[in-house]
Amino acid sequence: MIRIGNGYDLHRLVEGRKLILGGVEIEHHLGLLGHSDADVLTHAIMDALLGALSLGDIGHYFPPSDPKWSGADSMLLLEQVYNLIKDKGWTIGNIDSVIVAERPKLKPYLPQMINSLAQKLAIESDKISIKATTNEKLGPVGEQKAICSYAVVLLIEN
Ligand code: MG
Repeated sequence: MIRIGNGYDLHRLVEGRKLILGGVEIEHHLGLLGHSDADVLTHAIMDALLGALSLGDIGHYFPPSDPKWSGADSMLLLEQVYNLIKDKGWTIGNIDSVIVAERPKLKPYLPQMINSLAQKLAIESDKISIKATTNEKLGPVGEQKAICSYAVVLLIEN
């Protein structure tokens, strides 16, 4: 059996916050606003994992109303989500994702992000793909007011 899931997330870019994507801190004068560390890529991947098994979304497991998740490291949340998937007898076939950001240029950071996610999920790095693109200066993402991310995950039953 195989199952597919997709995830999407967007966070606003603001001053005074770190920019963390795929668990990697990126040098930039703006960061993503959110209850947790606002790692938009990791959130999209988590939602794709949950979606593949019809397990709801991350808001259900880590509600923003719960102070417990304030400033949470999204990589730890990802680990918890994948443990849930593994406990149900499934493993990741592959992950394909896109980060849409006008600035900064993310290409130099992609290998680091892939390694960070592969390590946390304990899967081979060639099972993870991350692409970076811009929004051609259009809309809130293009105007550098936000960064968004899309992810698709294939799960394989053990
Ligand atoms: Mg989010």
